[in-house]
Amino acid sequence: MKTDIEIAQETKMDCIVKIAKQLGLEEEDLELYGKYKAKISPVVWEKVKDNPDGKLILVTAINPTPAGEGKSTTTVGLGDALRQIGKKSCICLREPSLGPVFGIKGGAAGGGYAQVIPMEDINLHFTGDMHAITAANNLLSASIDNHIHQGNSLQIDVRKILWKRAVDMNDRALRNIVVGLGGKANGVPREDSFQISVASEIMAILCLSTDLMDLKRRIGNIIIGYDIHNKPVRAKQLKVEGAITLLLKDAIKPNLVQTLENTPAFIHGGPFANIAHGCNSIMATKYALKLSDYVVTEAGFGADLGAEKFFDIKCRYGNLKPDGVVLVATIRALKMHGGCCKTSLDKENLESLEKGLANLEKQIENIEKYGIPVVVAINVFLSDTQNEIAMVEEKCNQLGVEVAPCEVWEKGGKGGVELANKVVKMIEQNSSEFKVLYDEKRPIKEKIEIITKEIYGGEGVEYSNKAEKAIKELEENQLADLPVCMAKTQYSLSDDPSKLGRPTGFKINVKDVRVSAGAGFIVVYTGDIMTMPGLPKIPSAEKIDIDKNGKIVGLF
Ligand code: ADP
Repeated sequence: MKTDIEIAQETKMDCIVKIAKQLGLEEEDLELYGKYKAKISPVVWEKVKDNPDGKLILVTAINPTPAGEGKSTTTVGLGDALRQIGKKSCICLREPSLGPVFGIKGGAAGGGYAQVIPMEDINLHFTGDMHAITAANNLLSASIDNHIHQGNSLQIDVRKILWKRAVDMNDRALRNIVVGLGGKANGVPREDSFQISVASEIMAILCLSTDLMDLKRRIGNIIIGYDIHNKPVRAKQLKVEGAITLLLKDAIKPNLVQTLENTPAFIHGGPFANIAHGCNSIMATKYALKLSDYVVTEAGFGADLGAEKFFDIKCRYGNLKPDGVVLVATIRALKMHGGCCKTSLDKENLESLEKGLANLEKQIENIEKYGIPVVVAINVFLSDTQNEIAMVEEKCNQLGVEVAPCEVWEKGGKGGVELANKVVKMIEQNSSEFKVLYDEKRPIKEKIEIITKEIYGGEGVEYSNKAEKAIKELEENQLADLPVCMAKTQYSLSDDPSKLGRPTGFKINVKDVRVSAGAGFIVVYTGDIMTMPGLPKIPSAEKIDIDKNGKIVGLF
């Protein structure tokens, strides 16, 4: 099998103007970034806003293995497969961050014969959105330190500043820093830290905003920290929300590219899936729905986090009504859930597989709680056996859920035709009665409890003293009426990454609670969540290279 970058380099791309034509867009509707990338001009919304919406399909997964379960790959392949069966489809994905590209995980443009291209651009600087977000984040940081230096009329407590600096790189040395050293002329010394740009609240805001003015309003609402009277201080009090919005004037416009099979692909925004909601932008999804009949999109991590936040945060704010869900499972991950060790995943193991199916069953039950029909996609690896695939199919039949093996990684769209037919049938035969899981006006603890019991299958919630105090403060400051954004391990339904399968009898331990008032959610920390990853001993960066002809190797 060729590498991802080799497959991508061999593919003949269509000019982006031609891709846009498939969506009914003309060249004047685009802002071109070279021949193969474009942003959608904001004037297009007026033209398309009264079009009927297409069908919205979410691709999510069981609790994953560290390599990922192939959600992006399945999303791309399903988009292509829908085209192959004659449907007008497009896909919506998140923008990759440079951190994982040069770290362990690699890029996020799909894989094998189900990729978005130009993959090297998408995985690197793309249309500059990530850099704009980084600059916007750091303008706010600079404004905070300047305000303090210039006399601190807002009486910001330098020990209670929450806003961090950002850089789009895995760089553990920047996790804890001291700024303002060097004497009076160089600012006021204080502890600060860096986070990776995709963890910035600016990224979450960009993805949840419905237009430029909504973006500005949300940026103004960011709570940067607290004053000496313990009252929240917002970005608008520093009077920089206009300048920050200006830095984002192009980043807010959705990006259009294509798949290996020339299906239109919107790739826009990419917030973390733990301290943020892990979905591409509402704006890209809304354009996609107005411009095609079937929109396939994905959410980060497994369904307990990704799908829950897609429904309870993104769909709530975007007023989106998903029509169907594709739940991706791999035989490998199911076997791990059933106790099989990582080194023996390539061997047939029906015993572990059968036990591990409990995780799949729970995720199916969860999606049904939202009133949406679901199809299971088995993302087939070359090491999977017929017996193993048959066992998953039988389990799904018992549960009354459609299932299809999906071979898009190996074969592209034609490897997903059975899945595409089942998705279309599911949507035609079952109308979605989508509803969110909870009312955001309920008390914070009640919202956390509902998610813990209904989605994770836990018994209850334990709060640290810090979390108790934080919840009380949010309620006193009238900041409690927002959806919650759970920051939890992706590997388990519980908050303990070693509890695989379908654990029961556990409690969720809430360590801290903080508000992202601009994005509009309350982040619930159930463990130490890393917002600035480090590089591994041998990072991918050591294998990535470019030669004198501009040929790239090592990107995946
Ligand atoms: P996720 O979106 O769930 O994180 P990705 O789609 O990014 O997962 O896939 C993770 C990695 O696994 C990628 O490198 C991709 O090429 C690879 N991959 C996905 N599906 C398959 C498959 N069926 N066989 C082999 N490798 C796969």
